[in-house]
Amino acid sequence: MGNLPDKQIGVLALQGDFYEHIAILEKLDNKASLIKKPEELESLDGLIIPGGESTTICKLIRNYGFEEKIKLAVTRGMGLWGTCAGMITIAKKLKDDYPKPIGIMDITVERNFYGRQIDSFEEKVVIKGLDDKKFNAIFIRAPIIREVGKNVEVLSTLNNEIIAARQDKIFVTSFHPELTEDSRVHKYFLSMC
Ligand code: GLN
Repeated sequence: MGNLPDKQIGVLALQGDFYEHIAILEKLDNKASLIKKPEELESLDGLIIPGGESTTICKLIRNYGFEEKIKLAVTRGMGLWGTCAGMITIAKKLKDDYPKPIGIMDITVERNFYGRQIDSFEEKVVIKGLDDKKFNAIFIRAPIIREVGKNVEVLSTLNNEIIAARQDKIFVTSFHPELTEDSRVHKYFLSMC
C-alpha cells in the first residue's frame, strides 16, 4: 500500500478508547476528528466505533440520536470500522440478551467469548488484505463472529473462530489494532474509505 490521499476520518467519542485511534491515524498523517454530535458525520469518508463497553456505546448512540445518522452515512458510502465493542454495536444479531445492537452488518456476534478462559491476550494472526507478515492482535474481553451473511468476507480467524470480516465498506475486528505500533490495519481501513 503506497501513499493514500487524505481521508476525513472520525472516531466516535461517546465512550471507549477513541484517543488511541486518533493517535495512530495522525501517525499516518491522516486527518482524524473526535465525533461527539450526529451532524459531524456528514463530511466523513470513514467512521471508527472504538472498543469500550458495548452496552454503554449502544445506549449513548441512541440517546444522542446517532443510530439513523450512522445508517444514512453508510448508505451514502461512508466507510465504517468497529473494533471490539464497536463490532458488537454494529452487528445485526448477538448471541447475548443485551445490548440491542444497531444492526448494520450481517454478522452474529458473541460477546466476551474468551472471557471465561482468559480476559486479555495477544496472538499473531494473518489478516487477508494486509501483506503476508502476521499482525500482533490484542484481545481484551473480546467478542467473536459466530455467523456471517452471504455478502460478508471473512478476513481473519483464530482457532477457527472469525475475528475480522468485511461487508463492502463495513469492517470489523474483534481485537484492538489501535493499541499496537503497527498501523497496517488502519492503512487498510483508509484504503477502503
Ligand atoms: N466485552 C466488551 C463488551 O461487551 C468489549 C470489550 C472491548 O471493547 N475491549 O462491550
